[in-house]
Amino acid sequence: MKQTSVQQKKCVKCSRLMVALTLDIENEKRTLRSCSHCDVREWEAVDGSISLEGVLTELSDSAGR
Ligand SMILES: [Zn+2]
Repeated sequence: MKQTSVQQKKCVKCSRLMVALTLDIENEKRTLRSCSHCDVREWEAVDGSISLEGVLTELSDSAGR
């Protein structure tokens, strides 16, 4: 079975495993991690950097079109 392996991370607040979703945004893969317990969200770029503001801006841009 083939599976996209996304490294699992634990929530900094509650230490539960965060849910990871990989999305394609403007031809770039990004990983959205979220903790359903305390509603924490975190974006991660392919290179591992986290840019919360940048992604949010891109999202609202494409939604307004
Ligand atoms: Zn949490």
